Amino acid sequence: MFGDLFEEDFSFVSNNQCGKGKKSKSKDTEPLAPREFTKLSGIKNQGGTCYLNSLLQTLHFTPEFREALFSLGPEELGSLEDINKPDVKVRIIPLQLQRLFAQLLLLDQQAASTTDLTESFGWNSNEEMRQHDVQELNRILFSALETSLVGTSGHDLINRLYHGTVVNQIVCKECKNVSERQEDFLDLTVAVKDVSGLEEALWNMYVEEEYFENDNLYRCGACNKLVEAAKSAKLRKLPPFLTVSLLRFNFDFEKCERYKETSCYTFPIRINLRPFCEQTQLEDSEYMYELFSVIIHKGGCYGGHYHVYIKDVDALGNWQLQEEESKLMTEEKVQKDTENIKEMENPLTILKGILSEEESKQIPVDQLGQKLLEKKGMSWNKKYRKQYGPIRKYLQNHSQIFRLSPDDNKVSLKEMYHQLQFGSDCQGQVLQSPSQNNDVQWTSESLCTVLKDSASGSHWFDLNDSKVQPIKEKDIEKQFQGKESAYMLFYRKSQLKRPSEAQANPRYRVPGHLLNEMDAANIELRKRRMDCDSADNNIDLRLHLGSHYKFYNGALHPSLSWKESVLDLTIDKRKTLGDLRQSIFQLLEFWEGDMILSTAKSLPAGLHLYQTLDGDEMTLGGIGLADGADVFVWNGKEVGGMEVLPGLDHEPVLLNVLRLAGYNEGGKGQHFIESQHVVPCSAELSTLWKALASPGGIILMNSSGSDKEVENWKVVPEEDMKKTVRIVGLTDGSSILVLDSHDQSLVNVASGNLTAFMHDISWLQVKNFCRLEAEEKQVKITATIETVMSDIKIKAIQELQLGEELVDDSCLRPINRNGKLLAPVPEDYTVKEAELKMGSLLGLCHGKAPTSTQLFLYFVVGSDLQGAPEMEIVVEETASVRECLNLMLEKSGLPG
Ligand SMILES: [Zn+2]
Repeated sequence: MFGDLFEEDFSFVSNNQCGKGKKSKSKDTEPLAPREFTKLSGIKNQGGTCYLNSLLQTLHFTPEFREALFSLGPEELGSLEDINKPDVKVRIIPLQLQRLFAQLLLLDQQAASTTDLTESFGWNSNEEMRQHDVQELNRILFSALETSLVGTSGHDLINRLYHGTVVNQIVCKECKNVSERQEDFLDLTVAVKDVSGLEEALWNMYVEEEYFENDNLYRCGACNKLVEAAKSAKLRKLPPFLTVSLLRFNFDFEKCERYKETSCYTFPIRINLRPFCEQTQLEDSEYMYELFSVIIHKGGCYGGHYHVYIKDVDALGNWQLQEEESKLMTEEKVQKDTENIKEMENPLTILKGILSEEESKQIPVDQLGQKLLEKKGMSWNKKYRKQYGPIRKYLQNHSQIFRLSPDDNKVSLKEMYHQLQFGSDCQGQVLQSPSQNNDVQWTSESLCTVLKDSASGSHWFDLNDSKVQPIKEKDIEKQFQGKESAYMLFYRKSQLKRPSEAQANPRYRVPGHLLNEMDAANIELRKRRMDCDSADNNIDLRLHLGSHYKFYNGALHPSLSWKESVLDLTIDKRKTLGDLRQSIFQLLEFWEGDMILSTAKSLPAGLHLYQTLDGDEMTLGGIGLADGADVFVWNGKEVGGMEVLPGLDHEPVLLNVLRLAGYNEGGKGQHFIESQHVVPCSAELSTLWKALASPGGIILMNSSGSDKEVENWKVVPEEDMKKTVRIVGLTDGSSILVLDSHDQSLVNVASGNLTAFMHDISWLQVKNFCRLEAEEKQVKITATIETVMSDIKIKAIQELQLGEELVDDSCLRPINRNGKLLAPVPEDYTVKEAELKMGSLLGLCHGKAPTSTQLFLYFVVGSDLQGAPEMEIVVEETASVRECLNLMLEKSGLPG
């Protein structure tokens, strides 16, 4: 409530006075956000590394690969700490990969970094990374890893998991001799063009035979002649993990350009490879493979973006698709509820409801109104009358529903509606508990979903650099075709089962030293997040101690220096008011009696109090205390024996009070005395009048607001004297003019307009030109057109805080638009006689002003009129030209 009220003011204070820059932390020092609800870590995109990230995530979610790598200890790989020791062999690539996997498993951050790993490949720039295609990268990564594992027990890691063989055979039709050639593969590359999907591609490659016949015969080594023969290829050895690269990028030889094949290309979640194998006698399970990763390419053939769909076979992540569904349900429910409320608020429904519950069916109209109040807690007249008119009228207007007795005093529902109402009442009951119904439905449904999915283990995630999102298995089908489509497929042998201990256990098989490293890193991360968090939530409060303040002139003023009276306190805004009170008690050490905390604000008149803070269990943020807020600490009653009235209604207003001074009968020489007065904003003008004006005096306000150049003074009319300072619009800095009774002869009180009789009251601006070294200060001097120039000068010298001796050695010179000082104005002239416009600028300069019988002449010496300095002389009107010339020569120092 009052939080809103002061929000603007507090932000003003905090911007201007508490801008210590503590909130402008640099992004780098801030720790990465923790993992999101999936509990899986993404990988940061380090500039064009999305394909590397997709591949690394695939390897990471190949637990057999991950664990094989983890099984290699420091005794084989060395240790990253020894990286700079020349005599120690450190196998950096596998070590960095181990660490990355440990981070992906255990480090509580949204995304891991691959910088260390890519550096271990010797890739230091984005350029080096962009040269590679993801299929190529797969081979480069494997080969780099293999090379660095030579001589360790992990030397065959890649082969063990990914190596397969294909056998190519040519059978001679005549001697039946079989010529054989075996090929190794780490991944299979399959055609996409003109093929409907993976199975057809494999069929073309490993089932279809090619014949050598007619013109195209085969030379048989055994027969030693050209013969007819059949060529075929078969999968001989199947690896545990089968990687399939789709040839989506083709070359169009006619157009001579690369293009991306976006046609539909299906691939199964489970595939039986038996038809494509050389050896077909084994059990079915030997040939069954399951899809577990799909790297997706989005974009054209020259660039684009990669992300990957991965099946979380160890159930490490939190697969929470149902959350989305439940959200949808809740939204639906809320919508229904709002509809219900709307329906509830419709008087037709309400009255029908009341009447349908009536056993007697017919009730007096007055009683219907009474029942509305009893049952729904609302009165017709208050809630509906404005919109729908009197209740009786309303009932008459809905005669299709309500039947009024002939004398219009009793009402009943028409028969048809009575029944219908009961009908919809039943419906209404169903509607009244939609939450229960939905909940039950939802729970059983989502339970089914969870069971079904966990049974098949199909927890798929979309890993897109830093972002990880759960997806449905069915979403994979979206990647069959189009600009965004599957690019690499990863299958795992169905026989490979995961141990139950590995389920939902990211620590499984992670070596001890990496567990320790990650645990320590997590503690550090949490600590840094907490530090950042509290820095984000810290607010600086300024505590003003009541005992160091005095109340006078309508506001609070520090009795000691500001430094001694005000204490700074930094506190977490999530803490409670009770905590703040406790902190203040500790800070002050000695405090007796009640401690009242009030919000305060510095106003031009001084410090003013607003709301007493209460509700010790509320948080500081909750009660609206923001950074830079002022809090007054006192006993809640008095300050230095003076009663202090807090609140908006008692805000002190600092008024500028003008009085006419130096008035003389000739109407010449008017000038003003200004003083400042503090009045409560709730004070009536009559109080102000009593305090400031003499009996018979009057108060004038000007309605021109802050634009002082256009003054329009009006006498405050009698009827406004009961209004408060705030209501008539007087605020800090507003001016009022107080005229005593003798001044009023100038004012036509009847018209209420001062300008009618008196001359314009306005301001002239005077700029200091006397002290050239000092900053050219400028002041505003109140004047009328009858004010004499010497009075303006004296006032200006006072306001500019210049020495009094200057009065005799200075003059006022108007300054034109170009900033040029014009001839000085005679001292005895009035503003009007000097032909000065109100608001115009005068320069206060050294030198005497000419009298009204003197002339002021400018002259320039030399032939070049542009560059020569302008000089000035003052001569009597009666002086001859020769006299003037002599003066000029004297002034310029030239010989006669
Ligand atoms: Zn042969």
